[in-house]
Amino acid sequence: MTNYEALGLRPVINAFATVTKYGGSLMPPAVIAAMNEAAGAFVDLQQLQRAVGERIAELTRNEAAYVTSGAAAGIVLASAAAVLNKYPDALKRFPNLGAFNNEAIIFRSQRNPYDYSIKQTGLTYIEIEGASAVMRAAITARTACVFWFPRGDCSADEITLAEVIAIANERDIPVIVDAAAQLPPVENLWRFSEMGAALALFSGGKDLRGPQSSGLMLGRRDFIESIRPISNPNHGLGRPFKVGKEEMMGALAAVERYLKLDHAARERYCEESMRLFCAAMNPLAGVQAERAFPNEAGQPLPRCRVTIDPGLLGKSADVLVADFLNHEPAIAVAPDSDTSFYLNPMTLEPGEEIIVRDACLKLLSAL
Ligand SMILES: *Cc1c(COP(=O)(O)O)cnc(C)c1O
Repeated sequence: MTNYEALGLRPVINAFATVTKYGGSLMPPAVIAAMNEAAGAFVDLQQLQRAVGERIAELTRNEAAYVTSGAAAGIVLASAAAVLNKYPDALKRFPNLGAFNNEAIIFRSQRNPYDYSIKQTGLTYIEIEGASAVMRAAITARTACVFWFPRGDCSADEITLAEVIAIANERDIPVIVDAAAQLPPVENLWRFSEMGAALALFSGGKDLRGPQSSGLMLGRRDFIESIRPISNPNHGLGRPFKVGKEEMMGALAAVERYLKLDHAARERYCEESMRLFCAAMNPLAGVQAERAFPNEAGQPLPRCRVTIDPGLLGKSADVLVADFLNHEPAIAVAPDSDTSFYLNPMTLEPGEEIIVRDACLKLLSAL
């Protein structure tokens, strides 16, 4: 019996995505080993954050790096860095930023549940349409930063990230990229910084497969230096976003692994699993399965989109999603609509694609 089962919980096979709801991703042995080793000895945490940051920066071709407790925490800290970089005195004033540059420009079409973290710092949103002229007009002396939330494609309405960076850089305004789920491709670890973004934020617990409560802040050294005084183990705005020695070492091991990973083989596994699902389901009455690419976060990996005829199957897709969770073993699939759901191979362990395929055959056979 596993520890989860001892608590009355069933482990879940994740065919959904790197969603936090089901635990994000699984740490590979190298990450677990690094965390275990870190757990065995005390160390000066500030020195460790610096040393790990230097190493991650070097590996990811960035000027500087900082391990956060997740991309959402990174958004809070990056927002703070945008204020502190100009007004170091704001240190003890968060979230009361009336006297400082307290406006964050964000694009209406990129609004998402995570942008609340910008407001947590005390910044207010200036929500704009994605067009160069509109952006130019929105920048004032109060502008602290521009936030960009990519989804694979790098545009918002009529403006591209490259244009946003060019306009912001003219006025010395930092562009912060929330790239939480923008891995793969691995090149994104340096792409946004090379484009001229001040900071790029990544989840450590998604495709990087680092500790679930870790993240990376990559980019300009001056911005990263500005948050150290308010971050763990120091006191201030960042103190609640504590990162332990285990998470720091785990995040470093995850980056090292990710850079060496055979991404082509991984992509092949995802394509093969997707084809396996389609081949099994397409002969079934009232079921149509097809390749969907890129996935919901814009990552260049395929998913399998399953469309059903609820009349023929006698149930809607949301009932099927629940059936998969009630299945033995439990399988999380990605809900979509009354008539469709997705199977995402990116979080499957080798061999689990067979279990998922068999469950599909069992749950989707009308007769
Ligand atoms: C997942 C996600 C986050 C949050 O990341 P955590 O590492 O879980 O804090 C933030 N922004 C976007 C766009 C995400 O997809």
